[in-house]
Amino acid sequence: MFAECQQAEGSVGVVGMTDATSNLDSHGRPLGVLRLSLTARCNLACPYCCPDSRDPEGMLELQDQLRLIRVACSLGVHTVRLTGGEPLLSDRLEPLLTSIALGRPAGLKEIALTTNGVLLSPERALRLRRAGLDRITISLDGADAASIARMAGVQGGAKAGQSLLNQVLSGLEAARSAGFDPSQGALKLNAVIQKGRNDDQLIPLARLARDRGVELRLIEYMDVGSRNGWSLNQVMPALEMVQRVASHWPLDPVGRSSSSTTSRWQYRDGAGHLGVIASISAPFCGDCNRIRVTADGQIFTCLFASQGADLRPYLRASEPEAQLRERLSDLWTRRSDRFSEERRLRGDVDKPHAEMAYLGG
Ligand code: SAM
Ligand code: SF4
Repeated sequence: MFAECQQAEGSVGVVGMTDATSNLDSHGRPLGVLRLSLTARCNLACPYCCPDSRDPEGMLELQDQLRLIRVACSLGVHTVRLTGGEPLLSDRLEPLLTSIALGRPAGLKEIALTTNGVLLSPERALRLRRAGLDRITISLDGADAASIARMAGVQGGAKAGQSLLNQVLSGLEAARSAGFDPSQGALKLNAVIQKGRNDDQLIPLARLARDRGVELRLIEYMDVGSRNGWSLNQVMPALEMVQRVASHWPLDPVGRSSSSTTSRWQYRDGAGHLGVIASISAPFCGDCNRIRVTADGQIFTCLFASQGADLRPYLRASEPEAQLRERLSDLWTRRSDRFSEERRLRGDVDKPHAEMAYLGG
C-alpha cells in the first residue's frame, strides 16, 4: 500500500500545583503543553513523515501515561495534545480520556487530538467527545485526489486518493456532528505544504476549508527526522503561502498569540481565519512551551532534538511520584533548546533528528 518511505492508576488526581513561573527553562520559558504520542504506527505513509510499521519495545501503560499527565500538570502543563503516529489506531485513546476525566488534574484546561481523520467514524467521534476530548485537528495535504494519494504515500493514484479524501471529509463532518465546533476553534485542518509537490493545492485547500467554515493551518515542511530527505528548497515560506491565498481572498494579519505555533490571518470577506506555521522561515522558539513524550516514554524538549531522555524508570508505580516530578522539573529548567532559531542563524541543517511519527508533531 505504501509508496515512498525508504525503511523499511485509575483516575488523575492533583499533586501539589506549582506556580508555572517558578519552573522556567534557561531562556525563561514556562512549561505549558505536553504532546503525548500514543503510537509510532500509522495507517498512512506520508513521505515527508515516513512512519514506522510497528511500535517500539517498552510502550507506556495507561497508568504510566496518567502519572505523566498528572505530574506534568503540576509543573504547569495546561494542554495535552494526543498524537502519534496515528492516534486513532491506539485502543488506549478512549480509556486514557475517560481516566483523565475521572479526576481531571487542576490546571489541565484542554485535551486535543491530531489525527489524519481516516478512522474518525461518527461513533468514534462521539465516543471521543463524551470521553472528554476538547479539540481535534485533522491533517489533509490536498483537495485533489491524485495529490492526496501522493502526499499520503498510498498507491492507487487518484482512485485511492479520492477514497482517502472521502474518508477524511466524512471524519471532519463526524467530528462536527459530535460537537467539535470549528467556530469555537475545536475543529481545524492542518496541511503540510512542500514546494513543487503540493503547493498547487494551496488554493483548493483554502477553498475546501472556507466552504466548510474550518480554519486551515498551512505548515512549512520541516527538517524533522532523517528519512524524508528534507531540503530547504522544498520549503515554501509561510509568507509566500499567505500571499498566494490573499491573491484570491484578501487577508488581514491577526498575529500569533504567545506560545502558539500559528500566525493567524483573517479573511476580509468574513469567511474566518487562515493560520500558518512558519517553523523554518520565522521560528518561534522564543516562547516555546512544549514537551513531547513518545509512545515508549522518551521525552524530547525540542521537536528538532536528536535524542530524548528515558522517563520510564520514573513512571513506574513502585517509584515515588516526587521523583518523576523532580526529573521533569530538572529537564525543563535545564532546557536551552532553540534549534529552529539556531538553524536560521547558522544554517545548521545536517544535524540528525528523531522521526516525526515518533515525536508526534
Ligand atoms: N497522524 C496524525 C496526523 O497526521 O495528523 C498525527 C501525527 S503527525 C506526525 C502530526 C502532524 O505533523 C501532522 O499535521 C503532519 O502533517 C505533521 N508533519 C509530519 N511530518 C512533517 C514534516 N516533516 N514537516 C511538517 N509537518 C509535518
Ligand atoms: Fe501518518 Fe500523520 Fe505521519 Fe502522515 S503525518 S504518515 S498521517 S503520522
